[in-house]
Amino acid sequence: MDFWDFHTHQTGKANSIQNAGLDTLANHQACSLGIHPWFLEEGWEDIFEEISKQVQQNTSILAIGECGFDRLKGPALELQKSAFRAQAKLAHELGVPLILHCVKGHDLFLEFLKKEKSLPNILWHGWNLKPELGQALLDYPVYFSFGKHLLLPSSHAAEWLKRVPLDRVFLETDDSKIEIAQIYQAASLILGLPLDRIDQQVRDNWNKISSRKIK
Ligand SMILES: [Zn+2]
Repeated sequence: MDFWDFHTHQTGKANSIQNAGLDTLANHQACSLGIHPWFLEEGWEDIFEEISKQVQQNTSILAIGECGFDRLKGPALELQKSAFRAQAKLAHELGVPLILHCVKGHDLFLEFLKKEKSLPNILWHGWNLKPELGQALLDYPVYFSFGKHLLLPSSHAAEWLKRVPLDRVFLETDDSKIEIAQIYQAASLILGLPLDRIDQQVRDNWNKISSRKIK
């Protein structure tokens, strides 16, 4: 079974949304494109304009991102907020999801969600925060992409997966070298559901929230 991997830095894999950059775009099939907060700097507007052009022309770019907030390794917060707003607006306009990177910045993200009227669908990738925060995010079009943390049965990720509505769930490998099948197996054990049921669920989830469909 070729499981979908909704966020990965691995290349050359089928059924995966690979994290691309403007310079590597040609090497990818399905991918996401955006400005990661680690690489955000003054003058980002020019890069954003190019990204915007590419995303409109190239429908194999399935999502905007990863982008978001990072207090540990990112530029001034005002810069992060402006760049995030622009990318969220683009995602909303095109009807494609945004893949969120958020490190020590959930307050900034919540502030954005409360203020913004036209929200895109957002996948919080690498989710491993407290279920209470997950619960608060259910009021918004926020989805949860689970990765390697599911391999630890006592993780927040595993705990939240048991409680989150299934139509909010995605699975990913991110920057790990784990096979995506392993993540699906972990999810299957935690949820007590067969693999093919989970496989169908996450594909349906994607096609429900995106104008760019997957098979
Ligand atoms: Zn990533």
